[in-house]
Amino acid sequence: MTPDDRIYAYSAVLMGSPILLKLFEHNESLASRVFRLIKLQENTFTVNRSHSDIMAINHAAGRDAVTVSAPVFDLISRAKVVSCLPDSSFNFTIGPLVKRWKIGFSGSSVPDAQDLQTLLALTDPEDVILDEQNRSVFLLKAGMEIDLGAIAKGYIADIVRDFLQEQQVENALINLGGNVQTLGTSAEGAWGIGLKKPFSEPDALIGVIHVTGKSVVTSGIYERYFELAGRCYHHILDPKTGYPLDNELLSVTIISDDSIDGDIYTTLLYGMGVEKSLKYLQQHPHIEAIFVTRDRQVICSSQRQFRFTPLDGSYRTLSY
Ligand code: ADP
Ligand code: MG
Repeated sequence: MTPDDRIYAYSAVLMGSPILLKLFEHNESLASRVFRLIKLQENTFTVNRSHSDIMAINHAAGRDAVTVSAPVFDLISRAKVVSCLPDSSFNFTIGPLVKRWKIGFSGSSVPDAQDLQTLLALTDPEDVILDEQNRSVFLLKAGMEIDLGAIAKGYIADIVRDFLQEQQVENALINLGGNVQTLGTSAEGAWGIGLKKPFSEPDALIGVIHVTGKSVVTSGIYERYFELAGRCYHHILDPKTGYPLDNELLSVTIISDDSIDGDIYTTLLYGMGVEKSLKYLQQHPHIEAIFVTRDRQVICSSQRQFRFTPLDGSYRTLSY
């Protein structure tokens, strides 16, 4: 029996993504409880259907404050804080722009400059009024839309981890379409998580990230995009310009305890670029990062919380 024979993998498609759960026991009922939990969370946070807690807030934009549950209020509060950081490239009120571009969905097109200006005026995170006492959320202007697409998976990955811990599960892995959260170790020691080779076959890897009990989140411009007239338009938008973020980066991976941090910081550091990010990481030792650049470099932060094994000789690995 090889170590891998002891691992049972369960899969589903939820939140528009393939979901994978790895356990060390054959436990169909635990797996279905995990998938039900994810489904329940998805129903709360989605903006891709007409009904959810978030859509209730969006539908009432410019009109009413909407009272939400404590977890939803907390997540929105957190998203607002990060969005209001100086020069933040994370913006949870980016919804009107995301809807207009439709990147990754049918009917995507490049908005004209006038359109972008109109929509940018609806994406000021300071225009989200939070009332802690009533746990209500009010979008000041009609047409504003909250979009938690950049953090929902991380938030849910942590909920799954907490649930598994409550069930006394010591070793497991949950992959929510690119957001990986791990408990303990795999059969051979640290969990190995593949770092995808940008714009390649789905299973081509640049290398493997080894972690124990950590989250690994990657955001890449090759995940969802469309091409027009030789240009590639991807799904992480620059809140300042309304266009996709454009710099030397192809992907940012964050290694952290909580997957929500991973999700937040992939977007934040994406906008900062490599140089600024490396300085930022020195001040924030609880998170680590791996950057993949257009000129084929893999730049790793200090590797205290992970180990990186390169697999593709055409990429140069650098460590800081
Ligand atoms: P995924 O893991 O699905 O690729 P990301 O975590 O990279 O998603 O987040 C991308 C999603 O976040 C987009 O599809 C959109 O819904 C939303 N989004 C796009 N740009 C931003 C931004 N600057 N700040 C916050 N959310 C964004
Ligand atoms: Mg994210």
